[in-house]
Amino acid sequence: MPSEETTAAIVLRASNYGEADRIVTLLTRDRGKLAGIARGIRKSRGRFERRLEPFAHVWLSFRWRRHGELVFITRAEAGNLAAFELGADLRKFALGAYMLELSEALTREGAQSIGAYELLAQALDTLCRSDCPNALKQVFELKMLRWAGYGIDFSRCRGCGCDIGRDDARVAFAINEGGLLCERCRRGRVWGMVLLERPSVLQLQRLDALSLEASGTEPPATPEASTSLNRFISFVLERNLRSLEFLQRTIPNI
Ligand SMILES: [Zn+2]
Repeated sequence: MPSEETTAAIVLRASNYGEADRIVTLLTRDRGKLAGIARGIRKSRGRFERRLEPFAHVWLSFRWRRHGELVFITRAEAGNLAAFELGADLRKFALGAYMLELSEALTREGAQSIGAYELLAQALDTLCRSDCPNALKQVFELKMLRWAGYGIDFSRCRGCGCDIGRDDARVAFAINEGGLLCERCRRGRVWGMVLLERPSVLQLQRLDALSLEASGTEPPATPEASTSLNRFISFVLERNLRSLEFLQRTIPNI
């Protein structure tokens, strides 16, 4: 029988299966993204100290199967891990659900993802302790994108390399290039652009350098800055995240 492993993990998604089982997708600290089945979890709680539902932060014990993609989840314990208590605030729940879905979309099974796990854990912790709305969504997006290899340079033009900060003119975020274009380089281009006024450029530069913790007191992103990142993420993922629509209904202009 394969040996059991234990790792810290955050539940991204869970659904009931059959009469007593649960199928769970988690972002683990040591084993990347994992999908597993917890047999009998809905009838016997003994081995599952923390319920396996979205946002649960657990020490996950599991065994690999010889074939198939689901691991066997054998235990889920709280240990010393912080619980993410979102309370009854629907705005926090909506933003948290979006963070879980973005994390799932940007990570892969079988790939190292300790950085993504740590970012998500820190972002959920900040979310629990901060007042919505603020710039946490955008700071989290920028850090997760950078972790996944889609870092954006907000200080230089993608076209000619000029210093964006010195120019007062309108620049554009080029969605399918993942960067800014100066006034000269964007001329004549219409599609795939979000025009940015100077305050939005300065805010994006600031948000890109901000810690997750500090984002809890940062004012919400401007509509232009927010739209740029939403459209860039849809471009990278080649789809819209389902939780984004719910989030935007719950917190307009986020
Ligand atoms: Zn340029």
